[in-house]
Amino acid sequence: MTDTAQTHSDAPEQAKRVLLAAPRGYCAGVDRAVVAVEKALDLYGPPVYVRKQIVHNKHVVTTLEKRGAVFVDETEEVPEGSTVVFSAHGVAPVVHDEAKSLSLKTIDATCPLVTKVHREAVRFAKDDFDILLIGHEGHEEVIGTSGEAPEHITLVDGPDDVANVEVRDPEKVVWLSQTTLSVDETMETVRRLREKFPALQDPPSDDICYATQNRQLAVKQMAEDCDLMLVVGSRNSSNSVRLVEVAVEHGSRDGHLVDYADEIDESWLDGVRTVGVTSGASVPEILVREVLEYLAARGYGDPEPVVAAEESLLFALPTELRRDLKAAGMSDKMKHDAGSLADAGQLH
Ligand code: SF4
Repeated sequence: MTDTAQTHSDAPEQAKRVLLAAPRGYCAGVDRAVVAVEKALDLYGPPVYVRKQIVHNKHVVTTLEKRGAVFVDETEEVPEGSTVVFSAHGVAPVVHDEAKSLSLKTIDATCPLVTKVHREAVRFAKDDFDILLIGHEGHEEVIGTSGEAPEHITLVDGPDDVANVEVRDPEKVVWLSQTTLSVDETMETVRRLREKFPALQDPPSDDICYATQNRQLAVKQMAEDCDLMLVVGSRNSSNSVRLVEVAVEHGSRDGHLVDYADEIDESWLDGVRTVGVTSGASVPEILVREVLEYLAARGYGDPEPVVAAEESLLFALPTELRRDLKAAGMSDKMKHDAGSLADAGQLH
């Protein structure tokens, strides 16, 4: 025990700590998609239609709705000739065809890292491979990627699904994946697939994106020290849900997903000395700040950063939007305008 600890015998043992993961929150693909809708609203004026939730976050969607974005589930709900933005999760080619038949002006905010997986699917399908797509059934990204080559793609929804997988030629099989999965669980699925199909080929590069990997890495580094992990994110956000699972698997005694600080149940904090805080890739920082304020009001100390990686990736806005912004003499840069959601300045 140190001198300080002996002098203030009960202070260090009783101190309530907050470990704050870095990186957390917005990734480059979400940032780009949100700014694309904001800029489209500035340029064309409301309403701007958005097919599906632009990113899987309740706060982002309701804030954009207030500014005039109209979210629809299907392309056919968009009035003929209107502007529609495709979400960061990507769409199948058939959706582009539907938009064309309705004479819609489209802005494709598909994350470039999702587009990369689409291209891989097209390439392997062209070479007549059976493609085993590891992902969650019904997730928009999986529907979009599968739509690139439906006759060649089989969905594998986790390690337990491997037993059901059949292929035409076990010598010509490749696996690809959704971008927001648990790295560890995906590797387990691949291990089982390779047991079954020893000639299984790996994707040309990681499909689980840098943002998903980095956020999981930070959580793994702090989980063991945490009595509770609070992940800010929405229930339909795959990468956010994975962060809770990863935290508990790596030693956090408890873990919960919340959209807002006011969803935290006081009882979760009973006997909790160390709280870990992080957020999914679609979450504005203001929502994390509200959680930190909530914890500070209950006697938890200043957040201690746990830094797993530095991130500086920034994607350019979709080409079609950049072209129109330029023509209108407006900035086509990924700079956050004052008051932008991406500026993290808005309270709900
Ligand atoms: S989580 Fe990854 S794939 Fe998804 S939008 Fe962000 S960077 Fe792109």
